[in-house]
Amino acid sequence: MDIIEQVKERLSVFINLYDILRIIDPIKKKTIIIKDDHVEELEGTCYGFWEREEFCENCISMMAYIENDTFVKIENNEEKVFLVIATPLILENNKYIVEILKDISQNGKIIAKTNNNENFMEYFLNEMNEKIIKDELTGIYNRRYINERLPVDINNSIVKQCPLSVIMADIDFFKDVNDNYGHLIGDKVLMDFAKLVQSSIRKNSDWVGRYGGEEFLIVLNNTDLENAYKISEKIRKLLEDTIFEYDNVKVKITSSFGVDGLTNNKVNIQELISNADKNLYKAKTNGRNKTIVSEVI
Ligand code: GH3
Ligand code: MG
Ligand code: MG
Repeated sequence: MDIIEQVKERLSVFINLYDILRIIDPIKKKTIIIKDDHVEELEGTCYGFWEREEFCENCISMMAYIENDTFVKIENNEEKVFLVIATPLILENNKYIVEILKDISQNGKIIAKTNNNENFMEYFLNEMNEKIIKDELTGIYNRRYINERLPVDINNSIVKQCPLSVIMADIDFFKDVNDNYGHLIGDKVLMDFAKLVQSSIRKNSDWVGRYGGEEFLIVLNNTDLENAYKISEKIRKLLEDTIFEYDNVKVKITSSFGVDGLTNNKVNIQELISNADKNLYKAKTNGRNKTIVSEVI
């Protein structure tokens, strides 16, 4: 029996609870089917269902995949609002995700009416989804999003045989900023640092997330180590030349950077981050305000 049929049979007592059932490979962003006992990918992408050109930032299938748990979200396309449940499924020793979708457009309309705002539902969903993936202070992506997005970018780069580089940045002596000017100024510096980095990278293919307190991960798609080094140095020098001003307070900071990239298609997210971290550590111990990049083998 077709795998979808098997899953449907198991869910048959809940027949009114869902409208659509599909199986997803969240890393490849593909919907899959089982044909003659082997797994096949359907044409197009899983996010095509949502009438999108780019994959969902709030991909709960990726969350379900990474955390081996069930996740729920509300999502809309042009016409309808859906409740989506994503849960892991092992098929032929590979992990996939079952997505169970229920059309809840009627419920959505009720909320929209009471708020007297036609776009309320869309606004509400965007706000809710942003909160899941963005860092509250700086507005850039959070650690959770890094863990979900980076494996997808790595997989893409391997399939397309493109380079990919990451830069781990850590502000130098940031504790002193807090100690000298207070935490509120420290917070503002973090916000401005994030803005400076964001405006120094390409909008469509690069992105930055807050990895920890004053530590940031920059991901550069289609960029080899040599160019990643140049970009890192550009950001480092720009920061060095910038004076942050808040009322009468002037703050100058520097940052250290560790760079690593995909090599021989063998690198995974853990290795990339750990190599970038090691280089960052070298930059710190070699006097800070520096970029250290992995040697090309
Ligand atoms: P190093 O050059 O070795 O990186 O020194 P450092 O002082 O930057 O490093 P350390 O790890 O000792 O201190 C990091 C500081 O960052 C301590 C912590 O209070 C501060 N920090 C982390 N998150 C935030 C935040 O959200 N707001 C503020 N204001 N400070 C933060
Ligand atoms: Mg630091
Ligand atoms: Mg740190």
